[in-house]
Amino acid sequence: MPQFFIQFGKGTPQIAYKIITGKCTTVPWHCGDCRPGCPNKAISTAHAIDPGRCTECVGAYDKPQCAQVCPAGACVPDPAHRETRAQLLRKWRKLHPGEKPAPGTY
Ligand code: SF4
Ligand code: SF4
Repeated sequence: MPQFFIQFGKGTPQIAYKIITGKCTTVPWHCGDCRPGCPNKAISTAHAIDPGRCTECVGAYDKPQCAQVCPAGACVPDPAHRETRAQLLRKWRKLHPGEKPAPGTY
């Protein structure tokens, strides 16, 4: 089963996302479609996701938005950055002080 089908669930290890540059570069000029939809501004360039900002979209969406829109399948989980949903939600709260996470996203 591909890693990006790992299911959400309380206590389930989650994995911050990364961009596989080899796949990304198959799209001319790196389309950049992944960047505007990131709720945490984690994609600092078309080629890199900051694991310190990626919450796998926990707190904002029920699915990782970059993976949803990438035409190359280049946005994939990064096994080097495993976190629980609780940790991802704490990260989201630090990134969005005073805001409430969207229902059904954590
Ligand atoms: S959406 Fe995919 S192909 Fe386009 S820039 Fe982002 S990672 Fe690269
Ligand atoms: S999974 Fe969500 S938070 Fe992480 S880089 Fe992709 S769009 Fe941004």
